[in-house]
Amino acid sequence: MSVRDGQRDGRRRDKLELAWSELVTTARRTVADGLVVGTSGNVSVRVGELVLVTPSGIPYDRIRPTDTVGVDLDGKQVVGELRPSSELPMHLAIYRNTDAQAVVHTHAVHATAVSTLLYELPAIHYIAAELGGKIRVADYATYGSEELAANVLRALRDRTGCLLRNHGTIVYGDDLDQAYDRTAQLEWMCQVWLAARSVQGFSPSLLSKRELARVAEKLRGYGQPGAPSE
Ligand code: 13P
Ligand code: ZN
Repeated sequence: MSVRDGQRDGRRRDKLELAWSELVTTARRTVADGLVVGTSGNVSVRVGELVLVTPSGIPYDRIRPTDTVGVDLDGKQVVGELRPSSELPMHLAIYRNTDAQAVVHTHAVHATAVSTLLYELPAIHYIAAELGGKIRVADYATYGSEELAANVLRALRDRTGCLLRNHGTIVYGDDLDQAYDRTAQLEWMCQVWLAARSVQGFSPSLLSKRELARVAEKLRGYGQPGAPSE
């Protein structure tokens, strides 16, 4: 191997190591923040034509830096030995059909509760604009199935997140932090919805499509000037 090839290989390894460490940190956050229990949920991140994904059924605190699991966009395992998440079909469908760079799936309590009650989460808060508007609930299908992946893709049209009926959430973003933050906002909106609708004799006021579009535009400039937009 030439020196240049060796350097390129080294850079690729460093990139994968860094992406894997960020992925494991994000997966652990989902547990620490109460968005999943046990080995529920999964996280993936795209590195070029490769998708790194959490291994199936392994508690996140036991995943080691050397446990990297990577597949190509057809689902063929090209890195590691541990079996990838059972929800790989859902993650890959999103990478193949959107500009997602990271995907987070959880079984967050309030989001899962709402997924059993509604077909769409009403626009109860302006932060819905961050995910593209009112959040749809994907039709139920068995976990890990191609059918679930297809249902999710339908529910994600013009959105970066949706609920999975009787199951949980799936959200994507430009990076792991964005996918994670959108997931936390989705769970929080579901909690607000449940709290507001539980007051007898009243129903929550909602935001119009027009206002959500205005907020979506304003959010592009949210935060500090020059900072990556959120
Ligand atoms: P995995 O452990 O295979 O990722 O499955 C967890 C899950 O949430 C399935 O829907
Ligand atoms: Zn799940």
